[in-house]
Amino acid sequence: SSRFLSYRIAIVGSGPSGCYTAKYLTSALEKQGIVGNHRVDVIERLPTPYGLVRYGVAPDHPEVKNVQNDFDQLFEKGVQFYGNVQVGRHVTVDELRQAYDAVVLAYGCESDRKLNLPGEDLDGVLSAREFVAWYNGHPDYVHIGQQVARALGSNDKTRNAFLDASVVVVGQGNVALDCARILAKGGNGLYETDMAAHALPVLAGGAKDVSIVGRRGHVQGAFTIKELRELVKLEEEGYGASFVVRNDELDLGTTAASLEELASASGRPKKRIDKLLRDTAAKESNSAAVRAVVCERTRLEGSAGQQVAVGTGETETIPAQLVLVSIGYKGMPLAGTEQWFIASRGLISNEHGRVSGAIDDLGGLYVSGWLKRGPNGIIGTNIADAKDTVASVVEDLAGTDAKKDAFCLDSMLRARAVNFIKWDGYQRIQQIENSRRRSVQQPREKITSIAELMEAAAL
Ligand code: FAD
Repeated sequence: SSRFLSYRIAIVGSGPSGCYTAKYLTSALEKQGIVGNHRVDVIERLPTPYGLVRYGVAPDHPEVKNVQNDFDQLFEKGVQFYGNVQVGRHVTVDELRQAYDAVVLAYGCESDRKLNLPGEDLDGVLSAREFVAWYNGHPDYVHIGQQVARALGSNDKTRNAFLDASVVVVGQGNVALDCARILAKGGNGLYETDMAAHALPVLAGGAKDVSIVGRRGHVQGAFTIKELRELVKLEEEGYGASFVVRNDELDLGTTAASLEELASASGRPKKRIDKLLRDTAAKESNSAAVRAVVCERTRLEGSAGQQVAVGTGETETIPAQLVLVSIGYKGMPLAGTEQWFIASRGLISNEHGRVSGAIDDLGGLYVSGWLKRGPNGIIGTNIADAKDTVASVVEDLAGTDAKKDAFCLDSMLRARAVNFIKWDGYQRIQQIENSRRRSVQQPREKITSIAELMEAAAL
């Protein structure tokens, strides 16, 4: 038997986790036999949706960014978009919980894991997150460009010229490899992408050399072979950059326990990475390093799958004018969520997406995506993750009535003079970004200031 009930659900954040949560909600409710005119409101602090798809994923990965077209369908088909609305500031989590039958937090990770080393605050040391947000045109990170330009020595005189700067990227995940690839490609590979126009003249020359430094070995690195292959192929694809693997580093990382990790059933992807690195190392000569980032040589200790890096006292200094710390994004509590936030892990305590201890009179509070499981996994990882949260939401809703009072977020925001934009406003932004393209190949020319985005939305 089916019940007719119309639930109101608020989703905080419009990245992949927010969008996938919105996507699977309606069908899951139907499967539970709950039909109705459900209302799903996605609330986003920026005027533009999609989070890291727009402001994280590298501009030279347009095929990844295409997932935006799928997400567009949700908003075309009735999910409501509220852009330029910051939860915790314009509307509180408790207010949302009072007004909606369920609230799903999907606001991601907007801070950084730190090295906690002296020098981390120096000019020219940035987190990869800031660097990536800047080249992707995130409105909050436009100012980063001055530091990058200063560090790389790029100014109008050197525009498009080879940059005589060395960069060290600390960390060995895919974000680190994205940064290294973008810096190595320079203008050649970026003009036809949606890289922000302000970043092009700064990066066009390409850095002289980029070193990727990891605490442990390549077997423990978090990067995947697709991203590694892109680095290996830079030269044959005509980017004027070559990828150098230091044989000694490969050997040091190849402990008996690492060999065991490679030989294990789960080690197959790593084995392909190991082979690609060894094949590449054999072809290249090693470059010696001097000055700027002092690294302590580590030794791997421990059994397979548990190896830790232990300092040896031996140091190596790598020259660098720009250092990108790429050791992970970190979640932050939003005003009103502090009590459920686990600071050491940078995420919200939950069981299958149910915020632990938050099922009370105010109604269900849930979490999805990076904020739920930590900053890892690809866009697709958020599908199963969102389905898991949705199952909890629907299971809990099945036992409750829908809230009966009339509520409309539009009226609440208007009463507070919040300048929010809805789906049609974002479509006008898209039209203008399309009309400003540098070439037909370029997907869009991003507008990078909030004021200009709001102006475009209102046209
Ligand atoms: P996010 O995408 O961060 O979305 C969170 C949203 O919440 C943002 O839009 C934010 O503005 C909003 N928000 C924050 N605070 C508030 C607030 N107070 N009120 C309202 N809204 C708020 N995956 C791939 O599959 N392929 C790739 O090539 C790839 N490249 C990547 C490159 C980088 C540099 C990074 C960092 C990630 C990459 N990923 C890639 C992973 C992918 O981007 C993530 O898995 C995914 O974006 C996580 O989704 P999320 O919704 O949890 O967080």
